[in-house]
Amino acid sequence: MKRQSNTMEKKGQEEEEVKEQGVQKRQKLDQNNQEKKIDFSVLNERQDQQQSYIDKLKLNSFNALIEMKGRKDCPKCKCSRKYFCYDCYIPLNDDLATVPRVDLPIEVTVYIYLLELYFNRLRHPKEKISKSSIVASKIVAPEKVQIVHEMDISSLRDDDEDYDSVVLLFPTDDAQEVIKMSEEELAKIKKVVIIDCTWNQTHHFLKQANVKKIKKIKIQTEKTVFWRYQRISEANLATIEALYYFFRDYDVNKNCSGDYAKYDGKYDNLLYYYAFNYKLIQYEYVEGSKKDKKFIRMDNYIKGRDEPEQDTKHHKPAYLAQNDKKE
Ligand SMILES: [Zn+2]
Repeated sequence: MKRQSNTMEKKGQEEEEVKEQGVQKRQKLDQNNQEKKIDFSVLNERQDQQQSYIDKLKLNSFNALIEMKGRKDCPKCKCSRKYFCYDCYIPLNDDLATVPRVDLPIEVTVYIYLLELYFNRLRHPKEKISKSSIVASKIVAPEKVQIVHEMDISSLRDDDEDYDSVVLLFPTDDAQEVIKMSEEELAKIKKVVIIDCTWNQTHHFLKQANVKKIKKIKIQTEKTVFWRYQRISEANLATIEALYYFFRDYDVNKNCSGDYAKYDGKYDNLLYYYAFNYKLIQYEYVEGSKKDKKFIRMDNYIKGRDEPEQDTKHHKPAYLAQNDKKE
């Protein structure tokens, strides 16, 4: 018994140390960012030849984020946050008019599974939400996005509601491609559900007996700029990318006769914060404090310079994990 409690104590300490290291790293980065004036335009010159799809998005200006130096206290929970509070979904811009707004035609329910095993204990890791790319969708489309941490599939759609009215964005074998749906099917969609959790959690979720009652859909995927989950196949998407591609495919099918060239970028700001993070990292490694340092998370991620090959492992996002498994 004694030994067990010692072990638990040790694990608790390790956990604390990991947390402390994270805080220190963040403070150092914040400090670096405060000392310099970030100018993304230098990236354009360096990266002409190797553009990512992120560079082609129609996004609001990042100036408000660049000028937001250091952290601020969330007006509601008083916690120190950067850019927005991921618990209260409140942007921290001085002028709220600088926060992009995306007018979504369909309601979105985001399921973020919070419990995870850590040193053999189940816990609610706070950083899970702070690292989740999908939370930003609630900042740019607050009225249409709902974030939940518990979800009962049977409650998603009432029995008298149309089968096509609620769709789950997940690439099962029977999932229908959004770009190939009929006009009637598209018109019936009232809510899209997206899950943000690891493969194991997703597997557990999909084992619920009534998951068959929900229509599954999938998107056309492209290379991702996903960086948080380190070296994984380029087909893997961040959850926010998956949501963005859903709305893009929906619009291309519904309003652009299936021609991607006609899509006008109206949903691009869903990726506003995600793109900003991408640009910040690019800047850090091309012009900033990590200039000439190796980027170990993903090969060829930093554009405009050569990256050495590295191999690291980490858990992957749920979306498309299924495709991965088949390979
Ligand atoms: Zn808050």
